[in-house]
Amino acid sequence: MGKTALGVAAVRAQESQRPNSLFDDPYAQAFLDAAPGAFAAEHATANDRRPMAALGAAFAFHGVLRTRFFDDYLLTATAAGCAQVVLLAAGLDTRAFRLPWPPGVQVFELDLPDVLTFKERVLNEQGARPQCTRTIVPADLRANWATTLTQAGFRATTPTIWLAEGLLLYLSAEDATALLDEVGDLSAPGSHLAFERGDIADNSLLAHARTTPSMDQYTALWKGGLGPDTPEWLTRHGWRVDTHDRAILAASYHRAVPDSSSGEFITAERA
Ligand code: SAM
Repeated sequence: MGKTALGVAAVRAQESQRPNSLFDDPYAQAFLDAAPGAFAAEHATANDRRPMAALGAAFAFHGVLRTRFFDDYLLTATAAGCAQVVLLAAGLDTRAFRLPWPPGVQVFELDLPDVLTFKERVLNEQGARPQCTRTIVPADLRANWATTLTQAGFRATTPTIWLAEGLLLYLSAEDATALLDEVGDLSAPGSHLAFERGDIADNSLLAHARTTPSMDQYTALWKGGLGPDTPEWLTRHGWRVDTHDRAILAASYHRAVPDSSSGEFITAERA
């Protein structure tokens, strides 16, 4: 099972317990309960504990903020009439179940088969009911996923909202570019695309993580994703781009920004 998806579920479970939480994910804890011991073997040395705690805090802050930002983004775009939503690398995202979608919305969730199998098992056990029409699409986003999505009922002639949350870092620049190219080809005018960009922590913390053995299982997955010229790339490929500074957003949600956090969210509309 995808440990990165489980890590995000842990962040969402914790946030959902806060009195002033930015969202409520009623299924996040169930995923953790269904994968006991998933994080048990991670023993950091005494020297590593402080930087790893700082990295953990940055990851949690980023996960909470982006969940709320993309919740709002999806609800705004669907309320404006865009009824087809594709969650690229949906992981253990439960938006199909927990968001108050307008009538008529269809959500496609793509991820690797083992992640979706685990997700379906837990959601079934929980008796979860989607608040929209929901279709899961097991696929590897590095190859042939567009055909699988189309066979699952996706219509390229309909404006779509694409969300690539917590994904691009795990793809090589080549695979990430190919993915966005394909998304562009499948996007009718008026389609929307969103993802986050930038490091979740400062360079020294990330460098430390890369040399910490207990972090290998995560850092080995970091493939770099898109480069710094992504907004320009999108503009050249037919998208109108907006950027949203993470620190400004955090302030709007009355959340303090960890020192080590930077980065932004990118949203784009197909011209
Ligand atoms: N978007 C979800 C969220 O924010 O909760 C999941 C984010 S999780 C950090 C990254 C997800 O990317 C995992 O669920 C993983 O299985 C998925 N993933 C990574 N590489 C993939 C690939 N080549 N094809 C499909 N999914 C992939």
